[in-house]
Amino acid sequence: MAANTYGFIGLGNMGSPMCANLIGAGLSVQVFDAADTAVLAPEGSAIAASVGALVSEADTIFLSLPDGKVVHAVCAEIAAASSRQVTTVVDFSTTGPEAAARASEMLAEAGITFVDAPVSGGKAGAVAGSLTVIVSGPDKAVEDLAVPFGAVGGNIFLVGPNPGQAQAVKLLNNFLSATAMAATSEAVVFGQKHGVDMSTILDVVNVSTGRNTATMDKFPNRVVPGTFDAGFAMALMTKDVALYLEQVGVAGTPDAVGSIMSALWNAAHDDMPGSDFTEIYRYIAGEK
Ligand code: NAD
Repeated sequence: MAANTYGFIGLGNMGSPMCANLIGAGLSVQVFDAADTAVLAPEGSAIAASVGALVSEADTIFLSLPDGKVVHAVCAEIAAASSRQVTTVVDFSTTGPEAAARASEMLAEAGITFVDAPVSGGKAGAVAGSLTVIVSGPDKAVEDLAVPFGAVGGNIFLVGPNPGQAQAVKLLNNFLSATAMAATSEAVVFGQKHGVDMSTILDVVNVSTGRNTATMDKFPNRVVPGTFDAGFAMALMTKDVALYLEQVGVAGTPDAVGSIMSALWNAAHDDMPGSDFTEIYRYIAGEK
């Protein structure tokens, strides 16, 4: 059997290093990005002139795109391509359960299998190839993706057979991450107001019951040094929390914390467009 040819669409903060790790694992990858493929393409990839060109060469296509709207537009292009080699589309983007189900339907009409595979671990995890890959889709298609998933991920979880189930787990994770970041910012500002410095607060909390991903990672590595460089845009985190809240509405599950978080992230994003999500600390501290 001929070796698989892979395609990768969306070479941003996450897509470019993930693609580099696929190439590092010895896979042949053609790439495309709407911004500037030649600039963003990782070394060793083959540049495709368009989505259409890529669809005619690659049998499996990975997506790492900003949101569900863009994913649907690209899926429509894939499904409409006249010359098609592709049989499987794997979406690493965060889009939400309904958007994943819709993408799956759009592709199924063209005989293409969709695998829902959002990731967690940030840009650092994408560079290290240690992402958590949360997968839902048909068993056989997921089995066939063992090598590429192993190249980008450290932990791969098959959470169910249906597109959208992985998105649900990804959204609830990001809601928890966003809540940890916002609540930690508020708590740190409270401690500082009492004259205790940030590092001391983190030292105490990190060996106590309040520790979380913000106290253990985002604060010591991005906020204390003042670099605010987690590589995850506040716009994207705000999108994820809003999507979580929207999908909680669809599911009819409780939203008391979710609605407060979504309002807070929206306000921070309106105030600080273009910032990294760790800069919510600066918003809450009134530093800007
Ligand atoms: P990004 O904005 O850095 O990258 C998105 C890329 O998609 C850009 O290079 C853009 O030019 C390209 N693009 C946009 N529209 C396109 C189109 N129609 N055709 C082809 N390319 C197009 O975003 P990112 O931070 O890499 O995130 C990508 C996805 O991964 C998002 O859904 C995000 O929520 C999710 N995610 C991000 C992180 C993170 O820490 N950055 C972590 C986990 C998941």
